[in-house]
Amino acid sequence: MFESLSDGLQSAFKSLSGKGKLTEGNMRDGLDIVQKSMLEADVSYSVVQDFMKRVSEKALGKRVLLSLRPHEELVNIVHSELISILGPVDPSLHLKSEGPTIIMLCGLQGSGKTTTCGKLSQLLKEENIKPLLVAADLQRPAAIEQLHVIGRQLDVPVYSEPDNKDPVAVCKAGVDKARAEGARVVILDTAGRLAIDEELMSELKRIDKKVSPDQVYLVVDGMTGQDAVNSAGKFNETLELDGVIMTKLDGDARGGALLSVKHVTGVPIKFIGTGEHFDALEPFRPEGMAGRILQ
Ligand code: GDP
Repeated sequence: MFESLSDGLQSAFKSLSGKGKLTEGNMRDGLDIVQKSMLEADVSYSVVQDFMKRVSEKALGKRVLLSLRPHEELVNIVHSELISILGPVDPSLHLKSEGPTIIMLCGLQGSGKTTTCGKLSQLLKEENIKPLLVAADLQRPAAIEQLHVIGRQLDVPVYSEPDNKDPVAVCKAGVDKARAEGARVVILDTAGRLAIDEELMSELKRIDKKVSPDQVYLVVDGMTGQDAVNSAGKFNETLELDGVIMTKLDGDARGGALLSVKHVTGVPIKFIGTGEHFDALEPFRPEGMAGRILQ
């Protein structure tokens, strides 16, 4: 669904004149265009500054291939740097060969965790793996029932204890059940809050300590821009994240937050959510995202 570097940006770059070498002079206009485009895409300012520095260092004094003009060379450098910092690509769930692989989803309320449980279940079912879902979001009143609905739709089991107020105990019991039943994967749907707070962080830390998940993924709402970046930093300080899943990239958002979140957490972007349905989960592709950010 995303194109490579847009025609608009390509033609704006054509204003760069001269041949043979990239210099500060002939690069300035092009880099200004890139900077503006990234800020408009909601990439955070400090990340844009870092990126511009990297590109300038790579480009300065670079002899331009005979077949290219400076603007084409600069486009190539910008594009490949963006792809390099958005990577590496790692859509694997790193399933263990034995015992249940425990996947913990965390994130703010409304970021898309429960929906993503369904999407990951669908993905696993395509590989003939039936996960057990654990309803550990005891904050959002409808979350447990929502997970049961997903379980029924996809024919995957859901573990819940509606009367238990302790999410740590629910996760532990869910994992024990998965172990006893020989499930290959157990996915923990943890609670979020409207904003980061101590209670949330302490709850997640306790779950993390109690069940030692194999993979911890942060689910981030791609429409929330700068807020996503701030919260991602906090989640990453509290838990050792293994990856990020950015949702709601089916809307107008240019997805610049994804670059900032990658920069802040340093962990791979695993998947992007592109809709509300179970099949709307795509393995992350830096090339497509680079084109979208640099429109
Ligand atoms: P949770 O509180 O983190 O569990 O969030 P939910 O899974 O309940 O999702 C919140 C809302 O976002 C729901 O209305 C979902 O249908 C919607 N949603 C989740 N992922 C996506 C996505 O990738 N695209 C769109 N458009 N909506 C999504």
